[in-house]
Amino acid sequence: MSTPPAHHTGEKRQIIACPECDYRPTPLDRWSCLPRCGTSFHTFWTRGTCPGCGLQWPWTQCPACQKRSPHERWYRVPEGSEQDEALSVQT
Ligand SMILES: [Zn+2]
Ligand SMILES: [Zn+2]
Repeated sequence: MSTPPAHHTGEKRQIIACPECDYRPTPLDRWSCLPRCGTSFHTFWTRGTCPGCGLQWPWTQCPACQKRSPHERWYRVPEGSEQDEALSVQT
């Protein structure tokens, strides 16, 4: 009876999209730490932290529309997922 419980991650589905134009970053996108150390990295793999100098960027520029938005605003819950519980079938 002491079996470790399975990890329940991913209950909250999340997407990453530009708050301005809804662009979804791809694994091929790269952001440069400029004018700091110039390291090129994927800002959503590190949650905005530059692996070169360790700076956490509060703003993230969209590769598509070039607008800057607060990094946290890129993380979004898809529409409708919050209704999943309400729609669950009664037994
Ligand atoms: Zn955008
Ligand atoms: Zn840097």
